[in-house]
Formats: sequence, structure tokens, C-alpha cells
Amino acid sequence: CVSFDVQKIREDFPILKRKVNGHSLVYLDNAATSQKPQAVIDCMVDYYSNYNANIHRGVHTLSQEATDAYEVARKKIQNHFGITHPEEVIFTSGTTHAINLVANGFSSFLKKGDEVLVSAMEHHSNIVPWQMLCERTGATLKVIPMNETGELVMEDFEKLLSESTKLVFVNHVSNALGTINPIEEIIIKAHKVGAAVLIDGAQSCAHIKPNLNALDVDFYVTSAHKMCGPTGVGMLYGKKEWLEKLPPYQGGGEMIKEVTFEKTTYAGLPHKFEAGTPNIAGGIAFGAAIDYLNEIGFKEITAYEDGLLSYATLELLKIEGLKIYGTSKNKTSVISFNLDGIHPYDVGTIVDKLGIAVRTGHHCAQPIMDYYKIPGTVRASFSFYNTKEEVDKLVEAVKRAKMMLS
Ligand code: PMP
Repeated sequence: CVSFDVQKIREDFPILKRKVNGHSLVYLDNAATSQKPQAVIDCMVDYYSNYNANIHRGVHTLSQEATDAYEVARKKIQNHFGITHPEEVIFTSGTTHAINLVANGFSSFLKKGDEVLVSAMEHHSNIVPWQMLCERTGATLKVIPMNETGELVMEDFEKLLSESTKLVFVNHVSNALGTINPIEEIIIKAHKVGAAVLIDGAQSCAHIKPNLNALDVDFYVTSAHKMCGPTGVGMLYGKKEWLEKLPPYQGGGEMIKEVTFEKTTYAGLPHKFEAGTPNIAGGIAFGAAIDYLNEIGFKEITAYEDGLLSYATLELLKIEGLKIYGTSKNKTSVISFNLDGIHPYDVGTIVDKLGIAVRTGHHCAQPIMDYYKIPGTVRASFSFYNTKEEVDKLVEAVKRAKMMLS
């Protein structure tokens, strides 16, 4: 691993001092949700302790302070993701909400005969809303296939593209395999046939800092909780021209210009898509999480995590009968594996007894499990606050599980 003061960084995360089942916690479920540094926790406590008020509504001081902090967070998100206009950042409750917002909006644009492409390695939240959209509109959902190494088959993607393709949805990084998908190429090729592209950044945003303007992507969605921020908040980026065209998702307060019983007119961006009182503390703390990650630096984070991933891969593969799913050279921070003849759930239960948190199951990506003809995997997912020593503990625990369960 590259030089990186991981011990100092670990001090920032109070939860890492916890004991679980009598052992020091080894948290390797970062793909499900990341842990939160004190700076993010403090930011939320500060809001509720000192300036809790509803935003965009009051002339009073607290409301103005809260509104300013919320809008500063929007700007931080804008700058971090390389977004041109602040109003292209829509606060949502997370990735799932953001995808549903876009899918709902496209109901008015799609018709029978139109096609939408989704990759074979999507999270259910990037499959089900599009299936529902296709049911509503009569459009057809087609799947970009993957291969044994867990990579998308790009030749097949090209064959699937046609003038009927209206939308393409792909995750930047697969949460079940860790594969980094070639989104630049996907965006360029989809645009050539006039299709819009939505990139699901839920799993990449903690590891890779994208520049959305340079990528020229139409929509990008993510959740703050994957990147050291709180749960219940995330963002939708959409190109202004798309967001202006899309109808609102939910009606309510905040998203209107004028309401009468005869007719309502909608507010401009971003408010048109932000009905109701949002997760104010969460939004502000999302900004704090972005600050925190950038202080460490994404180059440093990526280099360190890549070192950890290589080390863990090598060490785990020394265990006889252990198979890793997702062996692309382009991957980040996730190792999905099984022990020959042993159910992943049993492995997860034994390693938990040793204080190690991994995820077991289909990881909300059942089509991937179907592809490999397995019920699920054990998934260890890493963050920059994990250490080589923790990897060693995982390897020992998996060996122990193997011994007990064989
Ligand atoms: N897409 C991917 C790739 C994910 O990993 C996740 C979360 N596991 C989601 C979408 C859904 O995110 P959320 O539950 O925060 O809406």
C-alpha cells in the first residue's frame, strides 16, 4: 500500500473504536454504507443544536442561516462533481429516489417501439424503475450482457444501439463485483444514436471523483451515505435542458410558483423537483462529507484502496476452494467470493462472531447471481480507513469458517 496515514484517519471515525462480539470491529461492508467521520456527525449536531429551521421559507435569521448552509452544500456538490450550474444539482433522498424521478419523467417521452438499455450488472434500483417505465409506456427493456470476468460485452452493447434506443442506464461501479464500467465510451456511443445516458454513481462516488461536465453525461445519481455522508440524502444531476423538459415528480410545497384551484405553475430549477421539506441536516452534512473526502484527496484514496484490494485479492486466493466473482482488471474496493460447497450466509455469520462485518446474499443484484448460477456471495468491500491488518483478520476468519463448515 502507498504511504497514507491510515491510523490518523481512523481517529476521525468514532465507530471504528467499537467492539463487536468481543473483538475490535473490522468494518468491510462499505459498499452497503460507509462509516461517518466526526466532522460529518458534528455538522448534523451543529445544525440541530444551533440553527434548526425550515429553509427557503422564513425571513427570520435561523431560516436564513439554514437556507444559506443548504445552498452552500449544493455548491460544494456542484464543484465536487464538476457540474456547470448549481440548479443542475437536485437534492433527493438517495440514488433510488433520483432514478425513480428520472424514470417517472420519461413516461411522457417514451412510446411503444422505443428501447431502453440497461446493463446486466445493475443494482435492483437501476432495473425495477425502468421495468415499471417500460410497462407504463410500452417501450422495451434490453440488457447489455456481461461476461465471466464481470465486464460488459461492449461489442454487444454496440449491436444493441439503434435509432430506437432512447435511454441507456449503467452503473459506474458494480456494487456486487466492483467492476469499473467504461462509462466514457458508453456515453459517447449512446449519444451517437441520440440516446440519453444515466450513470448510477452510488458505488463509485466514494472511490472516484468524476467530472460530469467533461463526461457529457445526461444524468448522474448518487447517495451521500456511500461517501461518508448521512443516509436519506443524495443527488440527481441532470443537464439543464433535460431537467427543464422533465415534468415534476412530486407535487407539494416548495416546488411551485403559484397555486390556484384552477391551475398551478411550477418553480424553476432546482425547486421544481424538491417538493416538501427536505433532509436539511443531511444535505448540509453531505457537503461536509465532500469536504472531508477532498481534504484527504481522491488520488490518495484511490491509490490506497487499490493497494488494499490487490493485497486482499492475493491473500484470499491463497485459500483453497475460494472463488472470486468479478475479476476485471478495472475494479475497485469490492471482493465478492464463495467457498466451495459452503453457503455465503454461513461464512458471514462466522466472521461476524469474530467482529468482521461483511455482506452476504445477492447484494440487490440478482441477475448477476443468476449469471454465475449462485445464490449469492460473501462481499468484503473496502474503504480508505481499512488496513492490511484488517484484511489479515478477514483472511484468518474465512479460513476458520472454512474449517468449521467443511
Ligand atoms: N445503485 C448501486 C450501484 C448501489 O450500490 C446502491 C446501494 N447499494 C444503489 C443503487 C441504491 O442506493 P440507495 O439505497 O442509497 O438509494
